[in-house]
Amino acid sequence: MPLFKSLESPYPDSQYNRFIRGYQMSKATDHPASHNSHNSQSPFKDNSNSSYIGRFAPSPSGPLHMGSLIAAMASWFDARRAKGKWLVRMEDLDPPRESQEAADQILDALDKVGLHWDDKVLYQSQRSEAYHNAMDTLIRQDLVFACDCSRQQIQESGGIYPGTCRERCLPAEPGTAMRLCVPDQTVSFTDAIQGEQIQNLGQQVGDFVIRRKDGLFAYQLAVVVDDTFQNVSHIVRGIDLMDSTPRQLYLQQLLACSRPISHPSYAHIPVIVNDLGQKLSKQHMASPIDPANGAPLLFAGLQYLQQEPDANLKTATCEEILAWGITHWAPEKLSNTRTLPEFQLR
Ligand SMILES: [Zn+2]
Repeated sequence: MPLFKSLESPYPDSQYNRFIRGYQMSKATDHPASHNSHNSQSPFKDNSNSSYIGRFAPSPSGPLHMGSLIAAMASWFDARRAKGKWLVRMEDLDPPRESQEAADQILDALDKVGLHWDDKVLYQSQRSEAYHNAMDTLIRQDLVFACDCSRQQIQESGGIYPGTCRERCLPAEPGTAMRLCVPDQTVSFTDAIQGEQIQNLGQQVGDFVIRRKDGLFAYQLAVVVDDTFQNVSHIVRGIDLMDSTPRQLYLQQLLACSRPISHPSYAHIPVIVNDLGQKLSKQHMASPIDPANGAPLLFAGLQYLQQEPDANLKTATCEEILAWGITHWAPEKLSNTRTLPEFQLR
């Protein structure tokens, strides 16, 4: 299925048309987490290093909790089974909310439970220049505009930005956000766990913020710049980010200009929810994990990920549990599952 269904571009000579022409089908069928992963067609069946590069990208606003641990585990298992690289990136774009202390705690926890990463950790707080350059690339394509609309104004018009400031030509001064024009077109991709996904950027998202009113670069821009910079080929992350994927595919294409592009494959794992159906997160007071007690956490993580770990792993070491997880990693067991009920560790 093509990424863009409609070929009607509101910008006849713009980057949109090149985007539409240039886009190749999502590579999700190459994903080792796809349903084809167990047959002999797997590109990762030999022992050589593959072109697989995965990543875990936590936001260091607090210590690791069970929800973030299972996201780390899923992307780690997927990368290790493919004999690929696994990178860690700190999404610390928002200094008031995030701290070096929390980043260090997360890294320490990953290390203690045996989820070792390759290469240096990348910190988004040190990447401003790259984000500036990316925004300039979009400005040169005439796709960026300043916006001073309040959140309330946007809510009053239905929650989807209606393009109010597109033609206002406001100066890009402090206190204004920078938004990216999106086309009224459908983006689709095949998620290796959740299947076919379709979203109309214009109707379901609207022109979105790439630099916030407070001057900080937005998540959507930073994540795309960094995934491209780190040559990330496979993104395994929580389903709460699945809605962002079409925006990220769109940005990837715009930032590639007219160069050929290989989009990453995507696999979105379910999120843990509490009794009230809320995602287990720092906002909902998810308790931090105790990395000194890693083996039961990893065992529980495999249970959450529906991997049906052998009962005798309950008394195994972290290393043994992780080795079992790599060998038995079967993400298709999560197919079409969006939430996982929280349970108490025993
Ligand atoms: Zn506006």
